[in-house]
Amino acid sequence: MPSASPPVPGPGTDIAANIAALRARMVAAAKSVGRNPDSVALVAVSKVQPDDRIDAALAAGHRVFGENRVQEAQTRWTARRQAGPALTLHLIGPLQTNKVRDAVALFDVIESVDRPKLAHALARETDRTGRRPDCLIQVNTGEEPQKAGVAPAGLAELLAVAVRDCGLPVRGLMCIPPVDENPALHFALLAELAARHGLPWLSMGMSDDFETAIRHGATHVRIGTALFGPRAAPPTPATHAGG
Ligand SMILES: *Cc1c(COP(=O)(O)O)cnc(C)c1O
Repeated sequence: MPSASPPVPGPGTDIAANIAALRARMVAAAKSVGRNPDSVALVAVSKVQPDDRIDAALAAGHRVFGENRVQEAQTRWTARRQAGPALTLHLIGPLQTNKVRDAVALFDVIESVDRPKLAHALARETDRTGRRPDCLIQVNTGEEPQKAGVAPAGLAELLAVAVRDCGLPVRGLMCIPPVDENPALHFALLAELAARHGLPWLSMGMSDDFETAIRHGATHVRIGTALFGPRAAPPTPATHAGG
């Protein structure tokens, strides 16, 4: 779509340089609050990006990627994974129960567990296959009706189902703050919820707010445009997938 405003200066097309610059900013943010920089992982969000940028990230030695659609991720990563070095793939988008089989087969981390029915479906598939991706519970910290994630008030109950009833390896929490609000408040809330439940991983922070997220304890930042450049198509809205 044509835009009236001048283009925003983005990252360069040198993916290796973008990754190095992001890492430097991540290290500085971690050190600014006395955290070990090694305690924060960079999840490169490759959704909708052209193949040459993905391959440039791989050539630069990057191994951790995030995708928000199961089918797109299969197309992109199945052959690359067989051909290349060990990768860690995160599912960061909503998961429908009819895609659970494919998701468990492909992903190492599923960040979007947000309802009991999905927890049960994941448990059945991990029992069937023996593959046990790490799981994060997505929390809808802004309580936005159009957004996936369990409301903060429902977290304890969902954790009981996912961990106690289903035996899922739940490592932590994930959130996507509302676009029009101060993300720091949402990061602080997610960190508090994780601490309350003794969960070590916090997936929060994207291109525009990852330093704030790291200062609030993020262990995983999910970065797309600041690493790869602008996406060709708009990102899929993180609506609740149902099922
Ligand atoms: C697309 C996406 C990101 C990355 O967003 P950028 O602003 O491009 O860094 C992070 N998390 C989720 C859940 C996404 O869908």
